Amino acid sequence: MARVAVLGTGIMGAPMARNIARAGHQVRAWNRTLDKARALRDDGIEACEEPAAAAAGADVVMTMLADAEAVLAVARAADLAEGQIWWQASTIGLDGIERCAELADEDGAVLVDGPVLGTRGPAEAGKLVVLASGPDDALGTCTPLFDAVGSKTVTVGEAGNGTRLKLAVNVWVLAAAEGTAETIALARALGLDPTLVCEALAGGTLDLPYFRMKAKLMLEDDFAPSFPVRLAAKDARLILEAAERNGADLPLARAVRERLVESAEAGLAEKDLAATYRLALSG
Ligand code: NAP
Repeated sequence: MARVAVLGTGIMGAPMARNIARAGHQVRAWNRTLDKARALRDDGIEACEEPAAAAAGADVVMTMLADAEAVLAVARAADLAEGQIWWQASTIGLDGIERCAELADEDGAVLVDGPVLGTRGPAEAGKLVVLASGPDDALGTCTPLFDAVGSKTVTVGEAGNGTRLKLAVNVWVLAAAEGTAETIALARALGLDPTLVCEALAGGTLDLPYFRMKAKLMLEDDFAPSFPVRLAAKDARLILEAAERNGADLPLARAVRERLVESAEAGLAEKDLAATYRLALSG
């Protein structure tokens, strides 16, 4: 059983910490807003007031924070030890993971670049998909933790590749979410019962569980955040930066990013990304 420090207990980090603890590992947690880490006490998780206190003596330090700036600041404050494994699980893009690799080198820590697919529900159910990259030994140590938070681990070679795969998959996530919003909004604008769209697609190859799930939330005007607009907009930015650096042209991702930024400016930053539906409807 491993000693694990979880730095960041937000929407994703809290259920991941819980599932790691439930699998029998010893978990210490830190969060900027300390109460969120303290709320995990009933799960046998010790809340620490500083990142370094959580990280001290841990076999694996996991970061699950909003963005690259937060990850780097917190990882520096954690004072990673020589040989300590740093599982970086947040979505931070190419530049972010490169800066993490530099910091890990400075500290002598071993970077595992392991972002995750799945949102609040799969995180709570321990059914994320881990996109694991890094040295084999470190991946081996992390495997029981990946199994605790996820239903599947995709191993993709050296650190950096997990982030690359995450960016590529997120193009699809963002396109699917916006595509759902626009499909339902147009049906409604045309005077149709939008559930007819779901009926028309049912059983066919485009009848995606994701479409059904997000369409239901849109029809119920339920935008409690699983994947907040502000984080989706950040991911769209990271995708476009990666595309530009590597010679890919992604007009759809550009349009979705604009829509997400517009949604955030319209006061929807903390709502689920399905809330872009409100803009599609009000057009
Ligand atoms: P979240 O609920 O907003 O949590 C963000 C965490 O980052 C919180 O612990 C927050 O602390 C902390 N934080 C933000 N800025 C900070 C700073 N400057 N210094 C220190 N801590 C800071 O987000 P989440 O949904 O858990 O997402 C975490 C990461 O996973 C993000 O990179 C996200 O893109 C990625 N991700 C999210 C999903 C999803 O569906 N939600 C799915 C896959 C991956 P406070 O609590 O004090 O604000």
